[in-house]
Amino acid sequence: MVKVRFAPSPTGYLHIGGLRTALYNYLFAKKNNGKMILRIEDTDRNRFVEGAVEGLIHSLNWAEIFHDEGAFIEKGKIVQKGEKGPYIQSQRLPIYQEYIQKLLDNGWAYYCFCSKERLDHLREEQKKRGENFKYDGHCRNLTKEQVQKKLDAGEEYVIRLKLPENRMVAFDDMVRGHIEVNTQDLDDQVLIKSDGFPTYHFAVVVDDHLMEITHIIRGEEWLPSTPKHVLLYEAFGWETPNFVHLPNILNQDHKKLSKRQGDVAVEDFKKKGYLPEALVNFIALLGWSPKTDQEILSMKELMDSFDLERVNKSGAVFDMNKLNWMNAHY
Ligand code: GLU
Ligand code: ZN
Repeated sequence: MVKVRFAPSPTGYLHIGGLRTALYNYLFAKKNNGKMILRIEDTDRNRFVEGAVEGLIHSLNWAEIFHDEGAFIEKGKIVQKGEKGPYIQSQRLPIYQEYIQKLLDNGWAYYCFCSKERLDHLREEQKKRGENFKYDGHCRNLTKEQVQKKLDAGEEYVIRLKLPENRMVAFDDMVRGHIEVNTQDLDDQVLIKSDGFPTYHFAVVVDDHLMEITHIIRGEEWLPSTPKHVLLYEAFGWETPNFVHLPNILNQDHKKLSKRQGDVAVEDFKKKGYLPEALVNFIALLGWSPKTDQEILSMKELMDSFDLERVNKSGAVFDMNKLNWMNAHY
């Protein structure tokens, strides 16, 4: 069975890009009689915004996107439904602890006790040489005894992925095709932070696997993260899901759409009186096109005709005139 997820971080309002990701997941699930999960990725506690989860769900439901499992709002409260929960990552810490232990045991992860000063110094040195930051593997070869001593002494640590040296990581993206990266161009990524919370990379892989996600449909900005995820699937001995990276949404000057150029929050469009059907119709065509040249499509028609084969590779331009034209049609 097809199972997809929309996995926003509660850092603010749902924006146009997020709405498109949610919509494509929803349409794909409906088309294939599958299920859609709403998972809240709130492991970055510094970026958490109070009320954002409620806002995200309201915006999705206003756009008539209804998920099957995950976080919901009932009587003003956040509730979670579905067998594979909890669906709020900050409530899954024991699960991440259990899974990181597996990687420590099988040699795919290691404790790193490097101080902030040491890492800052390293960063500076690399910057002088015009390089991007890459952890130098200083703590890779600590012995079990050395690690235990530091843990007993209460030293702060993170847990890092132990990248295999100088080898290719490959995967197929349903939009972008075959992608290969050398592990030399990757970093010994932090998996567990010093506050005990997992990083996005670790939590996303563990959760997508445990929640039995078959297709990961998300924005193109996550494409560079995917090789790291593929390595984690390998480290656990898990099968990789299908990856689908959606093209960027661009403004009229073909730069990536951002807040600076005007409204990007779904809430703003709602306040201005745009009809949800019109916004959904417009968003659906930002990066995807139906087989026919029909431009006005209801949610039902979108569900029936949606496919991943017709997702574009190139960026999709956000054309306000087109949205206004559509809005006038409803
Ligand atoms: N939490 C990520 C976000 O806010 C989700 C990325 C993903 O779908 O893997 O966009
Ligand atoms: Zn270290």
